[in-house]
Amino acid sequence: MTTDLDQAAAAIEAAASVALACHVSPDGDALGSMLALHHLCRAHGKPSIASFSEPFLVAPHYAYLPGLDLMTKPLDFPEAPELMITFDCGSAQRLGDLAVAAGRAAQLLVIDHHASNQHFGSINLVDPDAAATAVLVRRLAGRLGWSLNRDTAICLYTGLVTDTGRFQYANTSTEVFALAEELAGFDLPIAEVSRHLFEEHRFAYLQLVAACLGRAELDRGLRFVATWVTEADLTHHDVTLDETEGLIDLVRRTAEAEVSCVLKEAPDGVRVSLRAISEVDVGAIATSFGGGGHRFAAGFTSTSSIADTLAAIRQAVRQATGA
Ligand code: AMP
Ligand code: MN
Ligand code: MN
Repeated sequence: MTTDLDQAAAAIEAAASVALACHVSPDGDALGSMLALHHLCRAHGKPSIASFSEPFLVAPHYAYLPGLDLMTKPLDFPEAPELMITFDCGSAQRLGDLAVAAGRAAQLLVIDHHASNQHFGSINLVDPDAAATAVLVRRLAGRLGWSLNRDTAICLYTGLVTDTGRFQYANTSTEVFALAEELAGFDLPIAEVSRHLFEEHRFAYLQLVAACLGRAELDRGLRFVATWVTEADLTHHDVTLDETEGLIDLVRRTAEAEVSCVLKEAPDGVRVSLRAISEVDVGAIATSFGGGGHRFAAGFTSTSSIADTLAAIRQAVRQATGA
């Protein structure tokens, strides 16, 4: 039987070159899984380019990733790639500007682990049970017979440690620990990576966090907590939107809440992050608003105001919990 993994490996072997793309506003798994395959292609003689949609900016906490300087601006991405590979994207829309290239690609390989994945590729290497897209890239390297190297290991580890919440979420399986052990064997700078990713922020960001936590609203009956970041907050504190990625991880610590939410004013609308502890499927809620994600971590972008979006989310949580 030919598996998705066989098909994915065969497509890469057959292609003269590959064009890699991850989701807009990339997180650790999107960047880490894409750059890992980029490093592998370079090490094994397969011409590759890697990119993501405008705004073509990487959050400062990912600046240590090897290979950021080996990326191509989205403007220079091939218009109709022979083989395009997407990372950590549940739908073509998550590619932003690069969705056009995906539509024109002769072959489209989708590598992802979102339960909401729309299988929009001609080949879909999709496993909702995989803790990170990085896990799937490791499996693919194995099928290709491609050995890992240190740069690849740092990138894969970044995807693994971010999507498992530092090996603490329920998706932290034995496969995750086995991969972490393998990656650690490449003289991985674990403490350095952890500090960049989780333990270091500009003072200005901490002050913005204080303001946002100060205004957070807890609805004890609904077991729902929310806060928001406006463009005025970002300007006032001199903080960039991508620096605020970890804010939801503070809000979700609220013991009295099952569902937590952060809303952020962005150029494309209000970006919403949702998290749940154990009962509510926020992936389903986000999907109902045109977004996606996982059961306990999901998001969407709204064209309404922060207040209207928040009211609609409360209503959806009320429905989901019967509260
Ligand atoms: P975030 O809250 O941005 O960290 O995202 C949490 C999860 O939801 C991630 O797995 C994202 O891939 C997914 N997600 C966030 N925003 C969107 C969106 N606009 N559309 C689809 N999925 C999203
Ligand atoms: Mn992601
Ligand atoms: Mn992921």
